[in-house]
Amino acid sequence: MSNLLQTTIAGSLPKPAWLAPPGQLWAPWLLQDQALAEGKRDAVRLALLDQERAGIDIVSDGEQTRRHFVTTFIESLDGVDFEHRKTVRIRNRYDADVPVVVGPVARRQPVFVGDARFLRSATGSKTKYTLPGPMTMVDTLFDAHYRSREKLAWAFAEILNEEARAIAATGIDVIQFDEPAFNVYFDEVRDWGIAALERAAEGLPCPVAVHICYGYGIKANIDWKKTLGGEWRQYEGIFPLLARSRISQVSLECANSRVPLELIGLLEGKDVLVGAIDVATDRVETAEDVAAVLRAAIRYVPAGKLYPCTNCGMVPLSREVARAKLAALGAGARLVRAEL
Ligand code: ZN
Repeated sequence: MSNLLQTTIAGSLPKPAWLAPPGQLWAPWLLQDQALAEGKRDAVRLALLDQERAGIDIVSDGEQTRRHFVTTFIESLDGVDFEHRKTVRIRNRYDADVPVVVGPVARRQPVFVGDARFLRSATGSKTKYTLPGPMTMVDTLFDAHYRSREKLAWAFAEILNEEARAIAATGIDVIQFDEPAFNVYFDEVRDWGIAALERAAEGLPCPVAVHICYGYGIKANIDWKKTLGGEWRQYEGIFPLLARSRISQVSLECANSRVPLELIGLLEGKDVLVGAIDVATDRVETAEDVAAVLRAAIRYVPAGKLYPCTNCGMVPLSREVARAKLAALGAGARLVRAEL
């Protein structure tokens, strides 16, 4: 049954050292103008090559064309000042210099649609395109205009929907919204977060995924995880809400996390992208490590709805480690596939 357990990744991959300095978030571009445009596309080609050689079935562009998964999108919108940045606390965990919303936000032109078209043309594999979710966008900027997280989230949701529809029209197979903020602001998720996400996904012709996680493998996130106790039950509040939502796929962190796997059962009816690769360590999983996570998850989600995945983006890792982890993901999925 080779079509079961289709592998995919959460989104980002490290960039080549000639494009951006490795090992940092918000790394600056090392090329300019036409050379930068060409360099980004070459980096996408390499990201595709690495995924396809590893046996990843649903590939992404590795987010090679953006400096950051949220701010690059925000900076392309009207109503945002990204020259006079402000420092804010992100996900209640770490400070970052972020763009400032100074007026009504609007999308005057496509943001990633050209990149999506290139991705579609550069591979014969199934493709996924990632966008930030409305709540995570709100949590990654300073709002000097709306003065309401909810109002700003709705404005972003409408903009994201326009962008997602245009991306889907290029032939991309899955659109994913990244909402790590869902794991932090539980009351807001319930009150308006899921509704705003559904607005962003409205009318899309392809499956829509939401990625929730405990963050990149950076120190602030690793320290935060140490405060969460022996069992991480954060998903317990969100999953029943997501199960009732119109979002069809949920991507979550399972490898080396203290998430009790039975919580996946709360997502009944959804496709589950099971994170079987830890992005917070340079230790490369064996195929057997990956297989063990998948075998455990399969007790709570039917094989036809299980997609082996990474815990989160791999952009902070070295390319060598990321490539080896991709290979482990592909090999681990093949092991379990053979058992089905
Ligand atoms: Zn993540």
